[in-house]
Amino acid sequence: MIIGIIGSGAMGAGIAQVVASAGHTVRLLDQNTQALQRAGKSIQGSLDKLAEKDKLTVEMAAAIFARLHLTEDISSFADCELVLEAVVEDLGVKQQLFREVEMLVSETCLLASNTSSLSIASIAAACQKPERFIGIHFFNPAPIMQLVEVIPAVQTRAGLAEQVRDLVQSWGKLPVLTKDTPGFIVNRVARPFYGEAIRMLEEGLADMATIDWAMTELGGFRMGPFALMDFIGHDVNYRVTESVFTSFFFDPRYKPSFTQKRLFEAGYYGRKSGRGFYSYA
Ligand code: NAD
Repeated sequence: MIIGIIGSGAMGAGIAQVVASAGHTVRLLDQNTQALQRAGKSIQGSLDKLAEKDKLTVEMAAAIFARLHLTEDISSFADCELVLEAVVEDLGVKQQLFREVEMLVSETCLLASNTSSLSIASIAAACQKPERFIGIHFFNPAPIMQLVEVIPAVQTRAGLAEQVRDLVQSWGKLPVLTKDTPGFIVNRVARPFYGEAIRMLEEGLADMATIDWAMTELGGFRMGPFALMDFIGHDVNYRVTESVFTSFFFDPRYKPSFTQKRLFEAGYYGRKSGRGFYSYA
C-alpha cells in the first residue's frame, strides 16, 4: 500500500516509521524543510538503535528507510491509497489540506486524521467524499505505544471502521474502535488527570515533583502529569484541552488552566523547546 502522511512532527514521523516498518511505501510531507529533515534523521536514528539492539537486522533497517520518501510536494501524493494527516491541531488547516488532497488522489483513496480532539465529522465535512474519511489516532511515541483509536465519523461508510481496524492491527498495533466524541477515550480520561494535577499545584497542595513522584512511584503511571505534559508539548496539550472544553459546551470538568495557557503563550512548550513545567536546558 502507498501511504501519504502529512506533517512530519512528533506524530507524523513516528507514524511514518510504523507504516514503513509494516512494509508500506510512505510519502512523508511537511511544509517546513527543517521539520522534514529532522524527521528523516529521527527515523534513521530510531532504526539504527533497533538494529544495535538486534531487534532488526541492518538490512531490514535499510529496507524500511528506503520505503520512506520525504517530500515537500503534495502532488507526489497522487498515487496514495491512504492519506493520514498529523499537522497542527487546527480545524481550518486540516480541512484545507483535505480539500487539496482530494483534488489529487483517486476516488478510492482513504483519508484519515490523527487529531486528538477535533471532531472527525467536522474535518470530513470539508471533503467531497466524506464517506471515506476516518480518525486514526496514535499515541506518542507512535513506534512504541501500542494503542491506536479508530474513529468513524457519522459520514464514514459502513464497514470502513472494521477495515481500518484490521489494517492498523496488521501494523502490529492494538486498535480500539471509539465514538466520535471529544477526546475519544484516552484524551477524555486524561483531561481531568492533567487538569486536577495543575489545580493541586495552583492550590499549593503539593509541588510538581511530588505529584509526579506520587503518580509514578505509588500510582504506577509511567510518567507523572507534569512530566507527561512537558513530553507531549504544551502547544499540543493546551490546544487539545481548549478544544475538548469547547466541544463539551464549556463543561467546567474540562476547563483549561491559566498556568498552562501562560506556558503555551510564552513558547515554553516542554521538552521540545527546552522549558515547560521543568527545565531541560
Ligand atoms: P508537531 O507540531 O510536532 O508537528 C506538526 C507538523 O505539521 C510540523 O512539522 C509542521 O511544520 C507541520 N504542518 C503544519 N501545517 C502543515 C501544513 N498545512 N502542511 C504540511 N505540514 C504542516 O505536532 P504533533 O505533536 O506531531 O501533532 C500533530 C497532530 O497529531 C495534532 O493534530 C495533534 O493533536 C495530534 N496528536 C498529537 C499527539 C502528541 O502527543 N503530540 C498525540 C496524538 C495525536
